[in-house]
Amino acid sequence: MLMTGEQYIESLRKLNTRVYMFGEKVDNWVDHPIIRPSINCVKVTYDLAQDPEYRDLMTAKSNLTGETVNRFAHLHQSTEDLKNKVKMQRLCGQKTGSCFQRCVGMDAFNAMFSSTYEIDKKYGTKYHENFTNFLKMVQEKDLVVDGAMTDPKGDRGLAPHAQRDKDLFVRIKERRDDGIVVCGAKCHQTGSINSHWHIVMPTQAMREEDADYAVAFACPSDADGMYMIYGRQSCDTRKLEEGADIDLGNAQFGGQEALVVFDDVFIPNEYVFLAGEYEFAGMVVERFAGYHRQSYGGCKVGVGDVLIGAAALAAEYNGAQKASHIKDKLIEMTHLNETLYCCGIACSTEGYPTEAGNYQIDLLLANVCKQNITRFPYEIVRLAEDIAGGLMVTMPAQKDFDSDLPVGRNGETIGEICNKFYAAAPSCTTEQRMRVLRLIENLCLGAAAVGYRTESMHGAGSPQAQRIMIQRQGNIEGKKALAKAIAGIKE
Ligand code: SF4
Ligand code: FE
Repeated sequence: MLMTGEQYIESLRKLNTRVYMFGEKVDNWVDHPIIRPSINCVKVTYDLAQDPEYRDLMTAKSNLTGETVNRFAHLHQSTEDLKNKVKMQRLCGQKTGSCFQRCVGMDAFNAMFSSTYEIDKKYGTKYHENFTNFLKMVQEKDLVVDGAMTDPKGDRGLAPHAQRDKDLFVRIKERRDDGIVVCGAKCHQTGSINSHWHIVMPTQAMREEDADYAVAFACPSDADGMYMIYGRQSCDTRKLEEGADIDLGNAQFGGQEALVVFDDVFIPNEYVFLAGEYEFAGMVVERFAGYHRQSYGGCKVGVGDVLIGAAALAAEYNGAQKASHIKDKLIEMTHLNETLYCCGIACSTEGYPTEAGNYQIDLLLANVCKQNITRFPYEIVRLAEDIAGGLMVTMPAQKDFDSDLPVGRNGETIGEICNKFYAAAPSCTTEQRMRVLRLIENLCLGAAAVGYRTESMHGAGSPQAQRIMIQRQGNIEGKKALAKAIAGIKE
């Protein structure tokens, strides 16, 4: 059954997820002003699935149950499904101007479904059945699941088992007949607090000595022994201020990242998907990362659409929309943004079925996609800031624009003075101008910059991780053979 957005929010209230922020426990995290925008953002993935205009894109027919499920809980059955995934993410980015967080679960489902199938084939384990049962429950209840991959990693020069502190990678601490006990942590977990469940996966390929670190499992977000420490965002405390809605730039939506700690959490056997088969850790990482690198060719493009629109509005409000260099900058931003979209669509179109039957993206093209994402949004941001002008970072507060404190020689208020000096083209009010500049600030260097700017660099893996994959998948030997054939070089 598909949940409505309201039902999703109510379902979160029933969880006992332990959340800490600014050194204190947050009991009512659902209504906390800093956290709520990120919950609103996930809510959009439910609301759009109910909307007749978007239902086809936002839902799919489950291959497991035959029922209609939210596409965020779907196993991709074709290259059409892969493309629709990217289109759905672009749409959600356009509607929220932010990271809507639900994709990590979707990417984890698809990576674990195919990987567990292949692990079982080799070892006769029951991971695929465990995983499939788990996913059926997720689809039926229309749940949000966080896909947790990134470990703290400690000293990058050392393998997991060689770290001074054994908990720097999530590990199996104890094996029991009925399950495993895990400990460790996952860093900067997108949407972890807003998720009903977590899927935890290894963060890198593992060797035999690290077998206890080759672990994947699912657990409810309020599992005993689990807690989360909220990540700070630029300008986050503006959300606590009264009368500062405009200053937020995007008062409704935002992303969310947290440190998720597993402090001896018991995982029953039925939720274990990998426990020591170390040579499969790399497969899980490669497939999850591949899907998530495809994802960025959708979500970041949708947010890019909002930023390009905001820059065009800022130009118009300044009365500069006819200047040829402004038009050219908007063309350049569009060109860059659509190039990213091309990458997302291309790696989907070139997808192929896995042994388990769901579809995997083309790994080389997905890595090229994400590598471009580590660059183009920075240029798009640079051009947006260029068009917006310095006012986006020097403008007085909403409270000044609203103030009726008389300060002028003739009794003009602070609000009147601000409105007088910040008036621009007659096509807009100063409030409209303030709103669009604050939105640009929000996207380029405020709270949403986590999800647009810096996440473009590090989310789904930092640039070097893609370069390693591009090297592996680039088939230089094959290209050398082409050159030899053309040049007439015979061995
Ligand atoms: Fe989804 Fe993009 Fe956020 Fe990742 S960064 S969770 S792909 S919106
Ligand atoms: Fe991300």
